[in-house]
Amino acid sequence: MTNSLDSFVAQRLTERRAQQLFRSHKTLAAAPGPNARVDGRELVTFSSNDYLGLATHPQVIAAQQRGAELGAGATASHLVNGHFEIHQQLQQKIAELTGREAALLFGSGYMANVGVINALVGRGDFVVQDKLNHASLIDGGRLSGAQYLRFAHNDPVALERQLQRARAQAGDSGKILLAVDGVYSMDGDTAPLAAMAALCETYDAWLMVDEAHGFGAMGSEAFPCAGSAAAAGLDQASAPIVMGTLGKAAGNAGAFVAGSRALIDYLTQFARTYIYTTGMPPAVAAGCVQALSLMQGGSLAWILQQRIEYFRSRAALLGLPLEESTSAIQPLVLGCENTVLAVAQALQKAGYLVGAIRPPTVPAGTARLRITLSAVHSEVQIDGLLTALATALEKTQVAGVSP
Ligand SMILES: *Cc1c(COP(=O)(O)O)cnc(C)c1O
Repeated sequence: MTNSLDSFVAQRLTERRAQQLFRSHKTLAAAPGPNARVDGRELVTFSSNDYLGLATHPQVIAAQQRGAELGAGATASHLVNGHFEIHQQLQQKIAELTGREAALLFGSGYMANVGVINALVGRGDFVVQDKLNHASLIDGGRLSGAQYLRFAHNDPVALERQLQRARAQAGDSGKILLAVDGVYSMDGDTAPLAAMAALCETYDAWLMVDEAHGFGAMGSEAFPCAGSAAAAGLDQASAPIVMGTLGKAAGNAGAFVAGSRALIDYLTQFARTYIYTTGMPPAVAAGCVQALSLMQGGSLAWILQQRIEYFRSRAALLGLPLEESTSAIQPLVLGCENTVLAVAQALQKAGYLVGAIRPPTVPAGTARLRITLSAVHSEVQIDGLLTALATALEKTQVAGVSP
C-alpha cells in the first residue's frame, strides 16, 4: 500500500526533516517570568509574547485562583448560560482601555479573526489583506468565500490598486473589508494605519486591525495601551473593527473584538466562532480583569518601551543587523534555516531562549531569530543575550555557514 496513512505521514515528515523545517516542542516547567526551566535547564527567555510580565504576576495569579471559585468552566456557550458577570466586567474593561463603545470575548485570536471576517463578508464581497498577515486573518479570508486580494507588505500604493480593483468590481453597494495586522508578529513593524484608514474612506472599505501585538504594548496619550490604531491617531470612526488577544501582552488566553455597540450586537448574532463554542472559563476572565487593571495607565508599556530602546541601542553598538521595528518584536533575519538553527542552539547553550522562525511561518529565504522583549527583562539580561548573540553569530560565520 503506497497510499496508506502511515506511508503518507512518514513521507511528509521525511521531507520536512530534509528541509530543516521539522518542528518539535520545548517543554517548560512553567510560564517564563522571564526565567524558565526548559527541557530541564534554566534559561532566560526572549521568545514569549508576555510583553508586560503579566503571565506570572502574583496579583493576576491570585485573581485567577479566586475566579476559579466561580466554576472550573463556563458550562455552556456565552449565549446559552456560559456568560457570567466576570465576562461582562472584562468586556467593559476592554471597551474602556480601547476607547470603544463595546467589546465581545472570543476563545482565541484565531477564532476571533475567522469569526469576524466570516460574519462581515461572503461570496460577492472582497477581502483585502497584507501579504504578511497572520495565518488566522488569511484563513478567515479564505473561508469566507469573498474574493481575496493581497497587496505587498505595508505598501499603500499597492493597497490602493487593490482597493480600486475591488471597488470597480464590487460596484457601489459591494462590501470591501481591509484586514491588517497592526504590528507584524514576525517582523515587529507597524502598518501605516493612518494612510490605510484614509484609503478606506476613499474606497468605502471597512478597516479591521489585528492588535495581537499592539494591545497592552502601545497606544495614545488618552489610551496608552489600546494598541497600534490608537498610536496612529485612529478612533472608533476611522478604525471601526479592532481585534485584540488576551494571550500576548495580557499574559493570559482568549481574545476580543472592540467597536461600536451595533457592531458588537451584530457579531453576537452572526459570528459563528463566538456562538458555537463554550464560553471563556471564568478564572481566565478574572485573571484578565486583573491583568488589564495592571496595564491600564500605561506604566508597564512605558517600561517595555525603555527595554526596547535599550536593546536596540546596544545591538546597534555591536553591529547586529536590526530591522525597522520599534515594537517588542525584534527579529534578526539571517536568511538560511541552518544558520538560524545553529545560532538559536548556541544561544540556548549560553542560557538564552529565542524563537527560531522558519518557513512556512515566514517567506522562504527569510528565516530569522525572533527576539521578543518584556518589561520584566533586566538590562543585565539584555546585555547577556546580546553578548551571546554576537559570539554565536561570529562562530557560525567562522564555521562557514553563510547567512
Ligand atoms: C497570536 C496572533 C493571533 C492569534 O491569537 P491567539 O489568541 O493566539 O489565537 C492573531 N493574530 C496575530 C497577529 C497574532 O500574532
